[in-house]
Amino acid sequence: MTVVKSKVEAAIQSPGIFEQISGYDHEQVVFFNDKASGLKSIVAIHNTVLGPALGGTRFWNYNNEAEAINDVLRLSRGMTFKAAAAGLNLGGGKAVIIGNSRTDKSEAMMRRYGKFIESLGGKYITAEDVGTSTRDMEWISLETEHVTGIPENMGGSGDPSPVTAYGTFLGVKASVKEMYGNDDLSGKKVMVQGTGHVGEVLVKHLVEAGAKVTVTDIHADRIQYMIKTYKVAGVEPDAVYDVDMDIYAPCALGATLNDDNIERLKCNIVAGAANNQLADEVVHGNLLIEKGILYAPDFVINAGGLINVSGELEGYNRERVMSQTERIYERLLEIFSIAKASNITTQQAAMQMANARLKDIASLNARL
Ligand code: NAD
Repeated sequence: MTVVKSKVEAAIQSPGIFEQISGYDHEQVVFFNDKASGLKSIVAIHNTVLGPALGGTRFWNYNNEAEAINDVLRLSRGMTFKAAAAGLNLGGGKAVIIGNSRTDKSEAMMRRYGKFIESLGGKYITAEDVGTSTRDMEWISLETEHVTGIPENMGGSGDPSPVTAYGTFLGVKASVKEMYGNDDLSGKKVMVQGTGHVGEVLVKHLVEAGAKVTVTDIHADRIQYMIKTYKVAGVEPDAVYDVDMDIYAPCALGATLNDDNIERLKCNIVAGAANNQLADEVVHGNLLIEKGILYAPDFVINAGGLINVSGELEGYNRERVMSQTERIYERLLEIFSIAKASNITTQQAAMQMANARLKDIASLNARL
Protein backbone atom coordinates (compact mmCIF):
# COMPACT_ATOMS: atom_id res chain seq x y z
CA MET A 1 0.00 0.00 0.00
CA THR A 2 2.74 2.39 0.97
CA VAL A 3 4.61 1.52 -2.23
CA VAL A 4 1.55 2.28 -4.39
CA LYS A 5 0.99 5.58 -2.61
CA SER A 6 4.57 6.66 -2.99
CA LYS A 7 4.58 5.79 -6.70
CA VAL A 8 1.44 7.84 -7.29
CA GLU A 9 2.82 10.72 -5.28
CA ALA A 10 6.06 10.58 -7.19
CA ALA A 11 4.18 10.70 -10.49
CA ILE A 12 2.05 13.65 -9.39
CA GLN A 13 4.98 15.52 -7.95
CA SER A 14 7.29 14.78 -10.86
CA PRO A 15 7.74 18.21 -12.43
CA GLY A 16 7.38 18.87 -16.02
CA ILE A 17 4.69 16.74 -17.73
CA PHE A 18 2.31 19.65 -18.16
CA GLU A 19 5.20 22.00 -18.76
CA GLN A 20 6.40 19.76 -21.57
CA ILE A 21 2.92 19.37 -23.05
CA SER A 22 2.35 23.11 -22.96
CA GLY A 23 5.82 23.78 -24.28
CA TYR A 24 5.13 21.78 -27.41
CA ASP A 25 1.50 22.99 -27.47
CA HIS A 26 -0.19 19.57 -27.39
CA GLU A 27 -3.95 19.16 -27.23
CA GLN A 28 -4.01 15.78 -25.46
CA VAL A 29 -1.68 13.08 -24.18
CA VAL A 30 -3.09 9.71 -23.14
CA PHE A 31 -1.36 6.94 -21.19
CA PHE A 32 -2.59 3.38 -21.72
CA ASN A 33 -1.68 0.55 -19.39
CA ASP A 34 -2.69 -3.12 -19.58
CA LYS A 35 -1.08 -5.37 -17.02
CA ALA A 36 -2.32 -8.63 -18.59
CA SER A 37 -0.61 -8.10 -21.95
CA GLY A 38 2.21 -5.89 -20.63
CA LEU A 39 1.11 -2.97 -22.80
CA LYS A 40 2.47 0.43 -21.81
CA SER A 41 1.63 3.03 -24.39
CA ILE A 42 1.46 6.79 -24.76
CA VAL A 43 -0.61 8.51 -27.47
CA ALA A 44 0.14 12.18 -28.08
CA ILE A 45 -2.31 14.28 -30.05
CA HIS A 46 -0.58 17.50 -30.95
CA ASN A 47 -2.96 19.40 -33.19
CA THR A 48 -6.26 18.60 -34.91
CA VAL A 49 -6.89 21.88 -36.75
CA LEU A 50 -6.54 20.22 -40.15
CA GLY A 51 -8.24 16.93 -39.24
CA PRO A 52 -7.84 13.82 -37.07
CA ALA A 53 -4.33 13.22 -35.81
CA LEU A 54 -2.65 10.53 -37.89
CA GLY A 55 0.75 9.13 -36.98
CA GLY A 56 2.45 5.79 -36.53
CA THR A 57 3.03 3.71 -33.44
CA ARG A 58 6.67 3.30 -32.45
CA PHE A 59 7.54 0.17 -30.47
CA TRP A 60 10.86 0.88 -28.78
CA ASN A 61 12.85 -0.22 -25.78
CA TYR A 62 13.27 3.21 -24.18
CA ASN A 63 15.81 3.52 -21.38
CA ASN A 64 13.20 5.20 -19.19
CA GLU A 65 9.70 6.68 -19.31
CA ALA A 66 10.94 10.26 -19.64
CA GLU A 67 12.69 9.29 -22.87
CA ALA A 68 9.47 7.74 -24.22
CA ILE A 69 7.42 10.83 -23.32
CA ASN A 70 9.94 13.13 -24.92
CA ASP A 71 9.98 11.01 -28.08
CA VAL A 72 6.21 10.85 -28.47
CA LEU A 73 5.83 14.59 -27.85
CA ARG A 74 8.48 15.52 -30.40
CA LEU A 75 7.28 12.99 -32.98
CA SER A 76 3.61 13.99 -32.76
CA ARG A 77 4.46 17.67 -33.14
CA GLY A 78 6.49 16.78 -36.23
CA MET A 79 3.43 15.03 -37.67
CA THR A 80 1.39 18.25 -37.45
CA PHE A 81 3.95 20.06 -39.58
CA LYS A 82 4.41 17.08 -41.89
CA ALA A 83 0.70 16.87 -42.73
CA ALA A 84 0.39 20.65 -43.04
CA ALA A 85 3.39 21.01 -45.35
CA ALA A 86 2.25 18.06 -47.47
CA GLY A 87 -1.15 19.70 -48.00
CA LEU A 88 -3.03 16.88 -46.23
CA ASN A 89 -6.21 17.36 -44.21
CA LEU A 90 -4.81 15.63 -41.17
CA GLY A 91 -3.65 16.63 -37.73
CA GLY A 92 -0.50 15.56 -35.92
CA GLY A 93 -0.31 12.64 -33.53
CA LYS A 94 1.95 9.75 -32.68
CA ALA A 95 2.09 6.86 -30.25
CA VAL A 96 4.79 4.85 -28.55
CA ILE A 97 4.67 1.41 -27.01
CA ILE A 98 7.42 0.86 -24.47
CA GLY A 99 9.20 -2.48 -24.84
CA ASN A 100 11.24 -4.69 -27.10
CA SER A 101 9.31 -5.19 -30.33
CA ARG A 102 11.17 -8.43 -31.09
CA THR A 103 10.38 -10.12 -27.76
CA ASP A 104 7.52 -8.33 -25.96
CA LYS A 105 4.93 -8.05 -28.72
CA SER A 106 1.89 -10.33 -28.85
CA GLU A 107 -1.47 -10.46 -30.59
CA ALA A 108 -3.21 -9.80 -27.26
CA MET A 109 -1.10 -6.70 -26.66
CA MET A 110 -1.71 -5.24 -30.11
CA ARG A 111 -5.44 -5.96 -29.97
CA ARG A 112 -5.67 -4.39 -26.52
CA TYR A 113 -3.86 -1.40 -27.97
CA GLY A 114 -6.47 -1.37 -30.79
CA LYS A 115 -9.24 -1.19 -28.18
CA PHE A 116 -7.53 1.76 -26.52
CA ILE A 117 -7.28 3.60 -29.86
CA GLU A 118 -10.97 2.89 -30.42
CA SER A 119 -11.73 4.63 -27.10
CA LEU A 120 -10.33 7.87 -28.55
CA GLY A 121 -13.25 7.93 -30.99
CA GLY A 122 -11.27 8.67 -34.16
CA LYS A 123 -9.34 11.66 -32.87
CA TYR A 124 -6.18 9.59 -33.32
CA ILE A 125 -5.54 7.25 -36.27
CA THR A 126 -2.54 4.97 -36.13
CA ALA A 127 -0.15 3.38 -38.66
CA GLU A 128 3.27 1.69 -38.71
CA ASP A 129 6.49 3.16 -37.40
CA VAL A 130 9.77 1.75 -36.13
CA GLY A 131 9.08 -1.60 -34.49
CA THR A 132 5.57 -2.08 -35.91
CA SER A 133 4.46 -3.66 -39.18
CA THR A 134 1.41 -4.35 -41.37
CA ARG A 135 0.88 -7.50 -39.27
CA ASP A 136 0.43 -5.34 -36.16
CA MET A 137 -1.95 -3.02 -38.02
CA GLU A 138 -3.96 -6.09 -38.98
CA TRP A 139 -4.30 -7.06 -35.29
CA ILE A 140 -5.20 -3.48 -34.34
CA SER A 141 -7.81 -3.37 -37.13
CA LEU A 142 -9.67 -6.22 -35.45
CA GLU A 143 -10.52 -3.79 -32.64
CA THR A 144 -10.77 -0.38 -34.30
CA GLU A 145 -11.36 1.28 -37.66
CA HIS A 146 -8.95 4.05 -36.77
CA VAL A 147 -5.91 2.36 -38.24
CA THR A 148 -4.16 2.67 -41.60
CA GLY A 149 -1.28 0.84 -43.23
CA ILE A 150 -3.19 -2.44 -43.09
CA PRO A 151 -2.18 -5.15 -45.60
CA GLU A 152 -3.13 -4.71 -49.25
CA ASN A 153 -4.98 -8.04 -49.25
CA MET A 154 -7.27 -6.57 -46.57
CA GLY A 155 -8.05 -3.51 -48.71
CA GLY A 156 -5.36 -1.34 -47.15
CA SER A 157 -2.37 0.46 -48.64
CA GLY A 158 0.19 -1.93 -47.17
CA ASP A 159 3.59 -0.96 -45.89
CA PRO A 160 4.09 2.81 -46.35
CA SER A 161 7.88 2.51 -46.26
CA PRO A 162 8.50 2.08 -50.03
CA VAL A 163 6.59 5.32 -50.67
CA THR A 164 8.54 7.08 -47.91
CA ALA A 165 11.73 5.79 -49.50
CA TYR A 166 10.69 6.99 -52.96
CA GLY A 167 9.82 10.46 -51.63
CA THR A 168 13.15 10.55 -49.78
CA PHE A 169 14.98 9.54 -52.95
CA LEU A 170 13.32 12.44 -54.82
CA GLY A 171 14.26 14.70 -51.90
CA VAL A 172 17.89 13.59 -52.19
CA LYS A 173 17.74 14.50 -55.90
CA ALA A 174 16.20 17.92 -55.17
CA SER A 175 18.95 18.58 -52.60
CA VAL A 176 21.62 17.57 -55.10
CA LYS A 177 20.09 19.93 -57.68
CA GLU A 178 20.18 22.77 -55.15
CA MET A 179 23.80 22.06 -54.17
CA TYR A 180 25.36 21.10 -57.51
CA GLY A 181 23.04 22.68 -60.13
CA ASN A 182 21.69 19.38 -61.51
CA ASP A 183 20.15 16.34 -59.89
CA ASP A 184 22.40 13.66 -61.36
CA LEU A 185 23.30 11.17 -58.63
CA SER A 186 25.84 9.15 -60.59
CA GLY A 187 29.09 8.95 -58.65
CA LYS A 188 27.68 10.82 -55.62
CA LYS A 189 28.83 9.24 -52.35
CA VAL A 190 25.82 8.55 -50.11
CA MET A 191 25.94 7.19 -46.56
CA VAL A 192 22.66 5.53 -45.56
CA GLN A 193 22.35 5.07 -41.80
CA GLY A 194 19.75 2.42 -40.98
CA THR A 195 18.78 -0.22 -43.50
CA GLY A 196 15.28 -1.10 -42.31
CA HIS A 197 12.00 -0.72 -44.19
CA VAL A 198 12.83 2.72 -45.60
CA GLY A 199 16.62 2.56 -45.74
CA GLU A 200 16.75 -0.59 -47.84
CA VAL A 201 14.40 0.74 -50.54
CA LEU A 202 16.20 4.08 -50.56
CA VAL A 203 19.49 2.25 -51.15
CA LYS A 204 17.89 0.37 -54.06
CA HIS A 205 16.82 3.67 -55.73
CA LEU A 206 20.21 5.26 -55.09
CA VAL A 207 22.15 2.32 -56.52
CA GLU A 208 19.90 2.30 -59.61
CA ALA A 209 20.62 6.02 -60.04
CA GLY A 210 24.37 5.33 -60.03
CA ALA A 211 25.22 6.62 -56.56
CA LYS A 212 28.15 5.13 -54.60
CA VAL A 213 26.38 3.93 -51.48
CA THR A 214 27.76 2.99 -48.06
CA VAL A 215 25.43 1.60 -45.41
CA THR A 216 25.42 0.99 -41.70
CA ASP A 217 23.04 -0.59 -39.20
CA ILE A 218 23.17 -1.64 -35.55
CA HIS A 219 22.37 -5.17 -36.73
CA ALA A 220 25.47 -6.62 -38.40
CA ASP A 221 23.34 -9.13 -40.32
CA ARG A 222 21.54 -6.23 -42.03
CA ILE A 223 24.84 -4.72 -43.16
CA GLN A 224 25.94 -8.06 -44.60
CA TYR A 225 22.59 -8.54 -46.33
CA MET A 226 22.81 -5.07 -47.93
CA ILE A 227 26.39 -5.61 -49.10
CA LYS A 228 25.43 -8.90 -50.68
CA THR A 229 22.13 -7.80 -52.22
CA TYR A 230 22.97 -4.31 -53.52
CA LYS A 231 26.77 -4.50 -53.86
CA VAL A 232 27.23 -1.49 -51.56
CA ALA A 233 29.95 -0.82 -48.98
CA GLY A 234 29.29 -1.22 -45.25
CA VAL A 235 30.70 0.36 -42.08
CA GLU A 236 30.20 -0.08 -38.35
CA PRO A 237 27.53 2.23 -36.83
CA ASP A 238 30.05 4.39 -34.96
CA ALA A 239 32.08 5.12 -38.09
CA VAL A 240 29.24 6.92 -39.88
CA TYR A 241 30.16 10.47 -39.01
CA ASP A 242 33.76 10.06 -40.12
CA VAL A 243 33.05 8.60 -43.56
CA ASP A 244 33.90 10.84 -46.52
CA MET A 245 30.55 11.39 -48.25
CA ASP A 246 28.60 13.89 -50.33
CA ILE A 247 25.25 13.03 -48.78
CA TYR A 248 24.37 11.74 -45.33
CA ALA A 249 20.97 10.02 -45.31
CA PRO A 250 19.80 9.31 -41.74
CA CYS A 251 17.23 6.51 -41.90
CA ALA A 252 17.41 5.17 -38.35
CA LEU A 253 16.42 7.18 -35.30
CA GLY A 254 16.33 10.92 -34.66
CA ALA A 255 18.63 13.54 -33.09
CA THR A 256 21.74 12.40 -34.95
CA LEU A 257 22.35 16.03 -35.95
CA ASN A 258 23.78 17.17 -32.63
CA ASP A 259 26.87 19.11 -31.46
CA ASP A 260 29.24 16.16 -31.62
CA ASN A 261 28.13 14.58 -34.89
CA ILE A 262 27.83 17.81 -36.89
CA GLU A 263 31.42 18.64 -35.99
CA ARG A 264 32.52 15.29 -37.42
CA LEU A 265 30.28 15.21 -40.52
CA LYS A 266 32.08 15.34 -43.86
CA CYS A 267 29.24 15.93 -46.30
CA ASN A 268 27.53 18.66 -48.31
CA ILE A 269 23.97 17.49 -47.85
CA VAL A 270 21.85 15.85 -45.13
CA ALA A 271 18.78 14.27 -46.70
CA GLY A 272 17.20 11.21 -45.12
CA ALA A 273 13.98 9.74 -43.83
CA ALA A 274 14.48 9.68 -40.05
CA ASN A 275 12.12 11.83 -38.00
CA ASN A 276 13.43 14.64 -35.78
CA GLN A 277 16.97 14.61 -37.11
CA LEU A 278 17.95 17.95 -35.54
CA ALA A 279 18.60 17.49 -31.81
CA ASP A 280 17.80 21.19 -31.45
CA GLU A 281 15.96 22.72 -34.41
CA VAL A 282 17.47 26.20 -34.06
CA VAL A 283 20.98 25.49 -32.77
CA HIS A 284 21.71 22.57 -35.08
CA GLY A 285 19.89 24.03 -38.08
CA ASN A 286 22.25 27.00 -37.82
CA LEU A 287 25.31 24.85 -37.15
CA LEU A 288 24.68 23.00 -40.42
CA ILE A 289 24.54 26.33 -42.30
CA GLU A 290 27.85 27.37 -40.69
CA LYS A 291 29.40 24.14 -41.95
CA GLY A 292 27.99 24.80 -45.45
CA ILE A 293 25.74 21.72 -45.25
CA LEU A 294 22.34 21.80 -46.96
CA TYR A 295 19.63 20.21 -44.83
CA ALA A 296 16.42 18.77 -46.33
CA PRO A 297 13.87 19.19 -43.49
CA ASP A 298 12.91 15.71 -42.32
CA PHE A 299 9.17 16.27 -42.09
CA VAL A 300 9.06 17.42 -45.71
CA ILE A 301 11.32 14.80 -47.31
CA ASN A 302 9.81 11.84 -45.44
CA ALA A 303 6.12 12.68 -46.01
CA GLY A 304 5.60 9.88 -48.57
CA GLY A 305 4.52 7.34 -45.96
CA LEU A 306 1.98 9.71 -44.46
CA ILE A 307 0.67 10.55 -47.93
CA ASN A 308 0.33 6.82 -48.60
CA VAL A 309 -1.60 5.95 -45.44
CA SER A 310 -3.76 9.06 -45.74
CA GLY A 311 -4.78 7.77 -49.19
CA GLU A 312 -6.32 4.79 -47.43
CA LEU A 313 -8.79 7.06 -45.66
CA GLU A 314 -10.22 8.35 -48.94
CA GLY A 315 -10.21 5.08 -50.90
CA TYR A 316 -6.68 4.13 -51.90
CA ASN A 317 -5.53 5.27 -55.33
CA ARG A 318 -1.89 4.45 -56.00
CA GLU A 319 -1.52 6.89 -58.90
CA ARG A 320 -2.78 9.81 -56.82
CA VAL A 321 -0.52 8.86 -53.91
CA MET A 322 2.55 8.69 -56.16
CA SER A 323 1.83 12.02 -57.80
CA GLN A 324 1.30 13.65 -54.37
CA THR A 325 4.62 12.11 -53.26
CA GLU A 326 6.42 13.41 -56.34
CA ARG A 327 5.59 16.96 -55.26
CA ILE A 328 8.18 16.58 -52.48
CA TYR A 329 10.87 17.42 -55.07
CA GLU A 330 9.40 20.85 -55.97
CA ARG A 331 8.36 21.58 -52.38
CA LEU A 332 11.93 21.16 -51.18
CA LEU A 333 13.28 23.40 -53.93
CA GLU A 334 10.75 26.04 -52.86
CA ILE A 335 11.83 25.68 -49.21
CA PHE A 336 15.52 26.00 -50.15
CA SER A 337 14.69 29.13 -52.11
CA ILE A 338 12.66 30.71 -49.24
CA ALA A 339 15.47 29.89 -46.78
CA LYS A 340 18.04 31.58 -49.01
CA ALA A 341 15.90 34.63 -49.71
CA SER A 342 14.96 35.14 -46.04
CA ASN A 343 18.34 34.13 -44.63
CA ILE A 344 16.82 31.50 -42.37
CA THR A 345 17.43 27.77 -41.94
CA THR A 346 15.64 25.33 -44.24
CA GLN A 347 13.92 23.94 -41.14
CA GLN A 348 12.58 27.42 -40.31
CA ALA A 349 11.44 27.92 -43.92
CA ALA A 350 9.57 24.59 -43.86
CA MET A 351 7.96 25.44 -40.50
CA GLN A 352 6.87 28.81 -41.87
CA MET A 353 5.22 27.06 -44.80
CA ALA A 354 3.41 24.59 -42.52
CA ASN A 355 2.41 27.22 -39.95
CA ALA A 356 0.97 29.49 -42.66
CA ARG A 357 -1.37 26.69 -43.77
CA LEU A 358 -2.36 25.84 -40.18
CA LYS A 359 -3.15 29.50 -39.51
CA ASP A 360 -5.15 29.90 -42.73
CA ILE A 361 -7.26 26.80 -42.10
CA ALA A 362 -7.80 27.66 -38.42
CA SER A 363 -9.15 31.07 -39.40
CA LEU A 364 -11.26 29.48 -42.15
CA ASN A 365 -12.74 27.06 -39.58
CA ALA A 366 -13.39 29.92 -37.17
CA ARG A 367 -15.41 31.70 -39.84
CA LEU A 368 -17.54 28.64 -40.66
P1 NAD B 1 12.95 0.27 -39.31
O1 NAD B 1 12.82 -0.08 -37.88
O2 NAD B 1 12.42 -0.66 -40.34
O3 NAD B 1 14.48 0.51 -39.66
C1 NAD B 1 15.34 1.24 -38.85
C2 NAD B 1 16.71 0.60 -39.05
O4 NAD B 1 17.68 1.45 -38.41
C3 NAD B 1 16.83 -0.78 -38.43
O5 NAD B 1 17.40 -1.68 -39.36
C4 NAD B 1 17.72 -0.56 -37.21
O6 NAD B 1 18.50 -1.69 -36.89
C5 NAD B 1 18.57 0.60 -37.68
N1 NAD B 1 19.16 1.40 -36.60
C6 NAD B 1 18.61 1.79 -35.42
N2 NAD B 1 19.47 2.55 -34.73
C7 NAD B 1 20.59 2.66 -35.49
C8 NAD B 1 21.83 3.32 -35.33
N3 NAD B 1 22.11 4.02 -34.24
N4 NAD B 1 22.72 3.22 -36.34
C9 NAD B 1 22.47 2.51 -37.44
N5 NAD B 1 21.31 1.86 -37.65
C10 NAD B 1 20.38 1.93 -36.69
O7 NAD B 1 12.33 1.74 -39.48
P2 NAD B 1 11.87 2.44 -40.83
O8 NAD B 1 10.43 2.23 -41.01
O9 NAD B 1 12.83 2.10 -41.92
O10 NAD B 1 12.06 3.99 -40.44
C11 NAD B 1 13.34 4.59 -40.41
C12 NAD B 1 13.21 6.05 -39.99
O11 NAD B 1 12.37 6.74 -40.90
C13 NAD B 1 12.57 6.26 -38.61
O12 NAD B 1 13.13 7.39 -37.99
C14 NAD B 1 11.11 6.53 -38.92
O13 NAD B 1 10.48 7.27 -37.91
C15 NAD B 1 11.27 7.33 -40.19
N6 NAD B 1 10.09 7.32 -41.03
C16 NAD B 1 9.61 6.13 -41.49
C17 NAD B 1 8.48 6.11 -42.30
C18 NAD B 1 7.94 4.84 -42.88
O14 NAD B 1 7.12 4.90 -43.81
N7 NAD B 1 8.37 3.68 -42.40
C19 NAD B 1 7.86 7.33 -42.63
C20 NAD B 1 8.39 8.53 -42.17
C21 NAD B 1 9.51 8.50 -41.36
